Amino acid sequence: MKRSMVSSLRARPEWALVHLLISRREILRLIGSSVGAAVLPRIACATGEIHFPTGAVIRTVLKDVPPEALAGGATLFHEHLSISYDFMMKLRDGFEALLATPGRQGPALPPVARPWFMEDLGLMVEEMRAAIKEGIACIVDGGHPDMGRDLQFLKQLSTRSGMPIVAGFGYYAQPFYPPQIAQWSEEQITHELLRQARTEPVGAFGEIGTWDVMTPTERKVFRAVGKAQLATGMGVFTHTNFGKGAIEQLDVLESVGVKPDRVAIGHVGGLTDLKAEVLRAICKRGAYVGFDRQGGPSDSTQVPVIMALLEAGYGDNLLFSSDFSFAPDLKRNGGPGYAKTVTVFAPKLREAGVSERTLHSILVDNPRRFLAFVPKGRRMGN
Ligand SMILES: [Zn+2]
Repeated sequence: MKRSMVSSLRARPEWALVHLLISRREILRLIGSSVGAAVLPRIACATGEIHFPTGAVIRTVLKDVPPEALAGGATLFHEHLSISYDFMMKLRDGFEALLATPGRQGPALPPVARPWFMEDLGLMVEEMRAAIKEGIACIVDGGHPDMGRDLQFLKQLSTRSGMPIVAGFGYYAQPFYPPQIAQWSEEQITHELLRQARTEPVGAFGEIGTWDVMTPTERKVFRAVGKAQLATGMGVFTHTNFGKGAIEQLDVLESVGVKPDRVAIGHVGGLTDLKAEVLRAICKRGAYVGFDRQGGPSDSTQVPVIMALLEAGYGDNLLFSSDFSFAPDLKRNGGPGYAKTVTVFAPKLREAGVSERTLHSILVDNPRRFLAFVPKGRRMGN
């Protein structure tokens, strides 16, 4: 495949057309933390920059930051920094039950053991510092209360490591919903989500999931999330079972008025149709597609699908991340660490002919466009 075929960027929305030159010194000033002391990685060196709407912010657990402040590296839109051990055990059991259903398939989950790394602040600080050195400017944590996500832990982790962290919120999927969700109306769920958005330092809805085929209760949650999205402007990133029901998720969110460009349909790397028909349909509607389990054995089957989407002009709709959840991937354990999307996966795209400029656009610009929103209404505290 010719380089020129994949390096041309599709026309951007009008507000993104302004290109600024941000100097290295400016990036360091905007980041304004110990991050600046790290060597700025290769990915930060592209000079094109996007323009965001007036007043747009990315809401991290410590403060709202202008999207321009995160131009110094990749933003990973779906990772996990705080999941409880108990939740991981439930997740493993649920996943095994799903795989045991006739007609279902997928790789088994790696082992989960105590001591559980996401409860070890010192270890996680080291992992974040390593990720900063490898080119990561910000990480979105895809957890929420159902998963035992601990906001205080995320704040301490961000403060001590210098890594800007965006906390997700919402509800995961039916097998893991808190019991009240079954009784609550759509309006009650929206109300609770808006309470969290007003009182907690959360910055995106996610991961919001369907466990297998979308259930009526999951549909209720998706509609409630959609209504809360309209009220807040924050982006929504989803969990699908390896891409299953991807179109339906977007349909439900759009049915309550959510604009597709506020939505990232997740775990689509499971869809390896080389024509990428489902993914093209999602991109054509203006939503993002999340290739968010990158940096591992499934990369090779996803590269051709991503190349097809780039050739079709959908570079602005791609988001990459790794859904980091397992201890063997830690630097401490000899694994690639939290930056594996950039250090392991991105080189495979370079090798396939994707230009530096396109990679920068996908890894640095797209996630900031997805996360940036203009705050509406009053907030209480942080
Ligand atoms: Zn996840």
